[in-house]
Amino acid sequence: MKVGFEGRERKRESDQAPKPIFGEDGGGGGAIVAAMITTPKLPDRQPTMTVEGAAADQEIISWFEGLAENAGMVQTQTLRRIIELNHRTEYLQKWLGRDLRVQDLDPAALESLFSSSVPLASHADHEPYIQRIADGDTSPLLTQEPITMLSLRVFPVRAGGRILEFIYSSKQFQTKGGLTVGTATTHYFASEEFKTKQKSTKSFTCSPYEVIAGEDYKQSTYCHLLLGLAFSDQVEIIASTFAYSIVQAFIAFEELWEELCEDLREGTLSTKLTSPEMRRAVMDCLTPNASLASKIEKKCRQLEESNWSNLIPNLWPNAKYIYSIMTGSMQPYLKKLRHYAGDLALVCADYGSTESWIGVNLEPSDAPERVTFTVIPTFSYFEFIPLYTRKERDHSTSAVTDDFAEREPLPLSQVKVGQQYEVVLTTFTGLYRYRLGDVVEVAGFYKGAPKLTFICRRKLILTVNIDKNTERDLQIVVEKGSRLLRQTRAELVDFTSHADLAVHPGHYVIFWEVKGEAEDSVLNACSREMDAAFADRGYVVSRKTGSIGPLELRIVESGTFRRILEYYIDHGAAMSQFKTPRCTTNQVLLGILDRCTVRRFRSTAYG
Ligand code: AMP
Repeated sequence: MKVGFEGRERKRESDQAPKPIFGEDGGGGGAIVAAMITTPKLPDRQPTMTVEGAAADQEIISWFEGLAENAGMVQTQTLRRIIELNHRTEYLQKWLGRDLRVQDLDPAALESLFSSSVPLASHADHEPYIQRIADGDTSPLLTQEPITMLSLRVFPVRAGGRILEFIYSSKQFQTKGGLTVGTATTHYFASEEFKTKQKSTKSFTCSPYEVIAGEDYKQSTYCHLLLGLAFSDQVEIIASTFAYSIVQAFIAFEELWEELCEDLREGTLSTKLTSPEMRRAVMDCLTPNASLASKIEKKCRQLEESNWSNLIPNLWPNAKYIYSIMTGSMQPYLKKLRHYAGDLALVCADYGSTESWIGVNLEPSDAPERVTFTVIPTFSYFEFIPLYTRKERDHSTSAVTDDFAEREPLPLSQVKVGQQYEVVLTTFTGLYRYRLGDVVEVAGFYKGAPKLTFICRRKLILTVNIDKNTERDLQIVVEKGSRLLRQTRAELVDFTSHADLAVHPGHYVIFWEVKGEAEDSVLNACSREMDAAFADRGYVVSRKTGSIGPLELRIVESGTFRRILEYYIDHGAAMSQFKTPRCTTNQVLLGILDRCTVRRFRSTAYG
């Protein structure tokens, strides 16, 4: 098991320029961070991949049923194991003392001692320890076992046939203390585990490792597509870590298909591929195939006529489903994904993070809009901070943050259906009561294990004065606005936003990249619609009194968001984990957006 974490607060909201050494923001490149022990003691017995076929499936199901049945008790034991393993670390001794005798306490007493003595923490609280580990301090700081690698995430991939996987490694580097740092997916793709998974499921990704590890994501995408076409009859699954990568790849395909067919016909490789390792590895898999190339070419000509609708089932007729994270910040790409996928099933990948894998999707046929993730109680010790919107807030309760009011964290066994929570993790890899920053809602239970709906990142993203809007609020507003766009022949490619406080009164700016023609009157209506759609009381009141100015919709030229992606990739972000920042105060990004703005519209929603 490989789990890690990264500099989340700096990372996702992209308020700061990417760090030159430790990377990025948007895509799991990470400011320094993440602990990953290579030889941890695993929580209780895990199902193995050594048993064949149905027996292996049965073993996994029985293991999971047992866990779900006793989720609360399993959590208490999981915490006990974490403390047993790590109570002599500097971090835990600071809070639990040096004299703790774990064996003298029963698990429930230990659980209550832990939550009353160890404070809730953010990345900033752990960072000094991680920095020391990166610099080579080998004393037990966060974990008893030595940390041998710093990482960001592992997402297990399901079995299937041949998989056309749009996956990408990012650059790895060494810390002063000699540890390898890279995104978690980067470590995973380079690991034995990734190879074993392919062997034991007898299902191989189309691209050799050299393509996944290529330094230029555009070249890697070209090769993924080329090999995907070469193996088109064998491909059963189309996959990526986050749905963004699949959508990007097929947008690129619309421009590359002729060149790809040429290479397929001749068994050659475009000169745009400059990496000798990648060229060699791809050439080893490729043979000239004129008939396949002609067949694909013919289909592409027809697809071009229909604006590439149903592209995937047409070119990969044996594909059974698409597998990726499609929820949360990936939801805005669903429409485009469905456009390419036609009726093909969209299977939502599980819910996890660099810090810890959290929940699995037990109903693969559920649409992304309905999917829930059942918490696996052995992966970490989970706590849940009840969240209330300000309106519902009970004034007798304690802490109030900017966006939500919150109450004391609860253990997994005490969460309630319909309630929203922030997830808190205590992991085997040295994070203690770590606030993940994700808001989830309990949709139900599978036996004793809660089923979570992912709601949004907790952090407020748009605020001028008393108004407060989250990523989710923005997503709903943009969805409403872009519906008007769809009545024309234009579509929304991507979006971001900024609260402009440099002018008075401050106001929201929403940047759209649009494909196709949209008239001024339509875009004016879109800006009005979005302005009126922010339901937050603080916003509505401020707009009515004029203390927040009219929302501004700015249209940026085609390719702007690709430039933003490239900016992050250049600074160490991983394509596989990239998430477009939905709100930014990053000056470099704002510079790009400014230079690329081609049209501006001011809402007239409030007169
Ligand atoms: P990373 O920062 O790359 O480690 O990504 C982890 C984050 O991605 C989580 O904290 C969530 O915010 C988001 N995420 C992961 N899995 C899902 C999912 N299935 N649905 C929605 N968001 C997810």
